[in-house]
Amino acid sequence: MRSKNQTVYLSKIICLTQGKRKEKYIMDRNRLHEMAANPDNIPGIYNYCDRWCERCTFTSRCLQFQMEQEEQISDDPEDTDLENSDFWKKIEDSFSIALEMIQDLAEEEGIDLNDIDIDKEIEGQKKRDEIAHNHPCSKAALEYSELMNNWFDSATDLIQSGESDLQFIEKISFSGRFPKKTVNEIKDNIEVLRWYQHFLYPKIMRAITGKMEEVPEILEDMPKDFEGSAKIALIAIDRTMAAWAGLMQHFPGMEDETLKILVFLGKLRRSLEHTIPGARSFIRPGFDE
Ligand code: SF4
Repeated sequence: MRSKNQTVYLSKIICLTQGKRKEKYIMDRNRLHEMAANPDNIPGIYNYCDRWCERCTFTSRCLQFQMEQEEQISDDPEDTDLENSDFWKKIEDSFSIALEMIQDLAEEEGIDLNDIDIDKEIEGQKKRDEIAHNHPCSKAALEYSELMNNWFDSATDLIQSGESDLQFIEKISFSGRFPKKTVNEIKDNIEVLRWYQHFLYPKIMRAITGKMEEVPEILEDMPKDFEGSAKIALIAIDRTMAAWAGLMQHFPGMEDETLKILVFLGKLRRSLEHTIPGARSFIRPGFDE
């Protein structure tokens, strides 16, 4: 019987075969099995996280993180040809493993792999994506990203800084306007804002399309993936709002713009909670246990 971890890394291997960037994803099958069988890891923890591994407190118990660490290959140019050769060889091997594992999984789950109406499936997915994209929450997530860019443009003008966050932070560091501690706070808040700026839309899309695909009679007693996606989106919104509040106190000249963003996010938050009512109570493996 395949464990949850083993099933999950099947999807990773499938990713390997779909042309992921060459600098990553080289893995020995046995090593994969060994890592997936590690009882210290929390099964599925990476499914409902924010993928911010640098700030995560569960890296030592996350298969995803461990795989990514092992998959790194050297950046030394002298090794490039050899690495590329190894890379493609291992991709081929991974493809064979993926096919075997898909077959095993299909047999276990009673799925007929030949019985797939791919056109119908693609058409259905397109329609769901379109509906989800036009959902007010998804539109608001995209809109928010623009609002944030506009805020930084205005703040940059205000402080006559450069274009990037780094230049922005350097400018305020050397402006003498803020003590070092404040500069660090500003830096932390900007880091949070940037991390989640483009995170919200895909998570909300996933939650909404997932909800459309729900089959209630089958999933009644099971955790609902779309609720987990909505939950991490809500957490991202909460943290984003906290970061804006933190920035606002240091940029009184931007108070109106900041408040507008906070109100906008507050509405998005309520709207998402209303759209996916079970999101807040979803238990994420590791984080909420
Ligand atoms: S659970 Fe933590 S370590 Fe694992 S992928 Fe998510 S953020 Fe990274």
